[in-house]
Amino acid sequence: MAGAWRGTWQLPVLERKTINEQYIKHNALYHYYEYEESEEPGISLLAKSMCGRHMQNVNDFESIESGQILQFPAIACKKCFEKWKREFYIGS
Ligand SMILES: [Zn+2]
Repeated sequence: MAGAWRGTWQLPVLERKTINEQYIKHNALYHYYEYEESEEPGISLLAKSMCGRHMQNVNDFESIESGQILQFPAIACKKCFEKWKREFYIGS
């Protein structure tokens, strides 16, 4: 059975393949990643950002609350923020 769709705000984590290191750009923005919830615990959840620019395993990295994005929209990807607001945010 398929799980419910979830989403979370995260910074895109990039990889330097040559030295096998993960990093986040200093000017990175938060993107809204969507994924299908799994009923098996510990499974990696590959999620795609709403803007379509990034993919990552959301259970490997830290998320922030939507409230923080609403308070400081400048820290979020503009495309993700606009789409997220249209789909999920009911308010002024
Ligand atoms: Zn985005």
